[in-house]
Amino acid sequence: MEQKDAPTECPVCHTPINQQLSRWATPASNCGSEECQQELRRISQNERKARSRDRLREQRLEEEKALDQRIVAFSETLQPQYRAFLLQVHEDYGRKLAASIIEMIEAERREAEAQRCKHDNIATILDAYSRCQHRADATDRHNTELRARVQELEQDVQVYQRFENKVIGRVAQDELRKQPDPLVVTSSPSSRPAPGAQE
Ligand SMILES: [Zn+2]
Repeated sequence: MEQKDAPTECPVCHTPINQQLSRWATPASNCGSEECQQELRRISQNERKARSRDRLREQRLEEEKALDQRIVAFSETLQPQYRAFLLQVHEDYGRKLAASIIEMIEAERREAEAQRCKHDNIATILDAYSRCQHRADATDRHNTELRARVQELEQDVQVYQRFENKVIGRVAQDELRKQPDPLVVTSSPSSRPAPGAQE
């Protein structure tokens, strides 16, 4: 603290201080009594707490803003009626419920993508198998290397066919079960918890 900024009284008890400072003396910030120092510590602690509360609040507001933006951006990836539904949920029930709906849709999409990849694999193996089999038949029935490869592929095909049967079975089940599209959220807002249930 510079001498020109030196307080002339204790900020707590108002006792005059720094009255006749010598040129090089360090100004006091309070009267020096234990009570006043304690009070000043308490005040600065409260100020620190208030600043940290403000920071947290600011951080939360930023997170909420980011989530709102994500909900709007995600809605752009949906068909119009589902987009409208998501935005309506966001508006009526808040960002938490909208975010949980996005998570559900993303999980569905991941599963659909995983199944598509497996189907692509099946197609590739079936294709390689039929070409290999064709070559073995057409060119050299005694080509053992080729026959071994065909056998290997046959095993793969069996594995994948078993898998495919499972997938097809599951898809058929889903077809029977499903009313709306699998990417559609099945519950309507009215079956959701009341607005008071969130945040
Ligand atoms: Zn004092």
